[in-house]
Amino acid sequence: MKKKYVIPVFVPHLGCPNDCVFCNQKSISGQKKNITKEDAKKTIEYYLDNIKDKKGKKEIAFFGGSFTGIDVNVQEELLQVAYEYIKKGQVDSIRISTRPDYINREILKRLKKYKVKTIELGVQSTNDYILKRANRGHDFNDVKKASKLIRWYGFNLGHQMMVGLPESTRNDEINTAKALIKLKPKMVRIYPVLVIKGTRLEKECEEGIYEPLTVVQAVEICKQLVRMFVNKKIDVIRVGLQNTDEICEPGKEESEVIAGPFHPAFRQLVESSMWYDAIVEKIKRLNVKVKEVKVTVNPIDINNVIGHKKENVKKLKEMYEVDLIVKQDKKIKQGKSKIEITKKYNDFLEGTEDEKIKEKVTK
Ligand code: SF4
Repeated sequence: MKKKYVIPVFVPHLGCPNDCVFCNQKSISGQKKNITKEDAKKTIEYYLDNIKDKKGKKEIAFFGGSFTGIDVNVQEELLQVAYEYIKKGQVDSIRISTRPDYINREILKRLKKYKVKTIELGVQSTNDYILKRANRGHDFNDVKKASKLIRWYGFNLGHQMMVGLPESTRNDEINTAKALIKLKPKMVRIYPVLVIKGTRLEKECEEGIYEPLTVVQAVEICKQLVRMFVNKKIDVIRVGLQNTDEICEPGKEESEVIAGPFHPAFRQLVESSMWYDAIVEKIKRLNVKVKEVKVTVNPIDINNVIGHKKENVKKLKEMYEVDLIVKQDKKIKQGKSKIEITKKYNDFLEGTEDEKIKEKVTK
């Protein structure tokens, strides 16, 4: 399968008329000025020069704001730049992200003209109360309408949802995932809410009105959501905000993050935790006390099975006195595994008995 490369072009939605509680428009996109077609061209050229794999699939992704909400002339200019690379065969597709209430037939026709392939909608929640509380300025009905139109026009549909919005519970987030699954997105992104400088959430946090999730809580809920989407064959293309110079460890001088479940390897925490559950489930199903378990996976999954800083290895030892041995095998598909119990405590005890016997004999 050809490798896929994303060429990110950040489009800050400066002057966005909305005021979502979690958003500081500049920090999220990492950009403090409007983007010109020259900027876009420079970024695309830079990536094309640096992607050595000429056969890989390349996609220009306009990230960071509500693309279809910016000035139409700027939209057209940026799309034209991207489309030129499609025409020259240097890039394979274009993706944009936007708000559900910034989608209509006219907008979709424009995107079609420039061969945009994927449209991602910032849904955040499907609960109207939570959307209102987050000051999103759209409701779930907008999400339904936009999703249906996007699919009807033949675009790939993507959804972005958040966990840990003010007053949102785990159940609300599960219900959001259920409602999104019904709208048949091809892909989703899951973002735990981080408290960013200069946002309304920062104030709410200071006033004690909002309490962000901890990393552990965010991992637990994200794990459940990832399972739901994956079971329905929906690609989970991101879990956690991308680390940038500004979106980094709270407390660092340059960090725009004040609080919340930030972790530089958040997705790995989620995936490792899922592997941990799978291994423990397998062990628990056996009616024996396991001493050693061998997990064989695709090389891509190795780090997730071991866990961030060997967390799974340590946890299995501490909680269940089980040694985890991880092997790789390219023939095993990514995400799949062979889990074998290689030593049980019975064997172990028998082994020691044998050794004792041998000792006796030699003596
Ligand atoms: S998250 Fe909300 S406030 Fe921020 S750019 Fe998007 S619509 Fe505007």
